[in-house]
Formats: sequence, C-alpha cells, structure tokens
Amino acid sequence: MAARFVFLGPPGSGKGTQAALLADHLGVPHISTGDIFRSEMRSGSELGAKARGYVESGGLVPDDLVIEMVRTRISAADARAGFVLDGFPRTAEQAVSLERMLSGGKGRGLDAVIILELVDETVVARLSRRWTCSDCGMNYNLESQPPEREGFCDACGGRLARRSDDEPATIRDRLSKYREETQPLIDFYRARSLAVSVSASGPIEQIRDEVRRVANDKIGRRDTEDASSRTHSG
Ligand code: AMP
Repeated sequence: MAARFVFLGPPGSGKGTQAALLADHLGVPHISTGDIFRSEMRSGSELGAKARGYVESGGLVPDDLVIEMVRTRISAADARAGFVLDGFPRTAEQAVSLERMLSGGKGRGLDAVIILELVDETVVARLSRRWTCSDCGMNYNLESQPPEREGFCDACGGRLARRSDDEPATIRDRLSKYREETQPLIDFYRARSLAVSVSASGPIEQIRDEVRRVANDKIGRRDTEDASSRTHSG
C-alpha cells in the first residue's frame, strides 16, 4: 500500500531530518524541493539557474517551476510506493496541484500532513548555528551536530559555510513568509482532516518516534519494534 506524507514546518524545525527518517522507515523516497533546487544550482543546470535568485534571497521559486518539478519527481518509478514530501506544497496553488496530481481530488490522496510546531525564537537560535557543506549539501549544527574537523564536511571533506538564507535577518524574513504562506495550507489540510500537529522541540529521537507513531497509525501499519516499545498491546 502506498504511503504518502507531507511535512510542513518552519525553517529550522528539523523538517528535513524528520522527513528523511520517516521516508527511511517507510521505504519511500524523501523528496525535498529545497534540496533539489540546491543540487540543481550546484550542478549548474538550467533549472538551477532559474531558481538561484529566489533561493539565495529566501524568496519562493515561482509555482509553475516547482509544480512541474514535483510532478516529474513523483511520477518516477521509485515513488510508486509513496513518498515523503518536504518543502512542498508551500502555497495554496501548489497544494491544489498536488491534490490533482495524486487523484484528481477524488479517491486516495495523501495519508497525512505532519505539521512540525516550533516557536520563532527557537527557530532563529537553531538556524544561526546551522552550517552546510558547499560541495555535498550535508547539514551540521555547531551545537548539536558539529563536524569532526571544524569548517569541513565529515562526509566529503568539502568546506562548510552558512547558507546565505540562514543569516539572522534573512531568517526573520523567511519566518514571516512561512507563517503568511503556510496558514492557508494548514487550513486547507485541516478542512480535509489530513493535518496532524507534532511538537518539534525536544530530542530528534523523541520527535522521530512521535512522527512514526502518527504515520503508522494513518496507514494502519504495526511495527514489531514499535509494538515492543509500547506499554499497551492494542
Ligand atoms: P528549504 O530548504 O525547504 O528551506 O528551501 C530553500 C529554498 O528553496 C526556499 O527558500 C525557496 O527559495 C525554494 N523552495 C523550496 N521549495 C519550494 C516550494 N515548494 N515553492 C517555492 N520555492 C521553494
């Protein structure tokens, strides 16, 4: 059975980490539109060139460009069993397009939209400590996930730099944009009874387990490892 999830959450909520963990748990691809854009920009593709100005200033890439990219990605063979979307949809138009792509608005669409909740002060504090590898895109946090060698990537040895959209002033800007753009999406998914809120403060493992519990519940899956860690057997 296909498992289709969307993550919503402010920048810095651990959305990318949690989406990757859930995708891994479900055995489906993790599709992050932000990662795709950054990788296209690194490879110097035409799509990367079109997206660069928006991504670097923290603005949104135009809907038609993003929607086409996601349509192509979720039609790939590896997404037949489902996907975990991260960073898409970001606008009402994208949400409507996604619904149409999946089932024309009829039949089975998404299983759930997981909303990671975090207050603004925590977002700013977390993001100003985030550094990213300029070669492979791996993320580090100077406090909770520092690299072994300061300034260099553990995975590929590339140089670490702060993403230009992680500067404090840009973060505030991205946050108000996030709140503005996302509220209509939250309303959209609440109206379809698909929205589930999960607190994004606390240790990564605790949030992972809560997300997993929500997802398993939505797709009617029971894992032996989850079952054994529960206190009830229902
Ligand atoms: P993220 O890594 O999700 O914070 O995305 C980084 C940047 O990629 C955003 O600030 C936007 O410029 C662009 N981007 C990613 N996803 C979308 C989307 N669904 N719609 C528009 N722009 C996007």
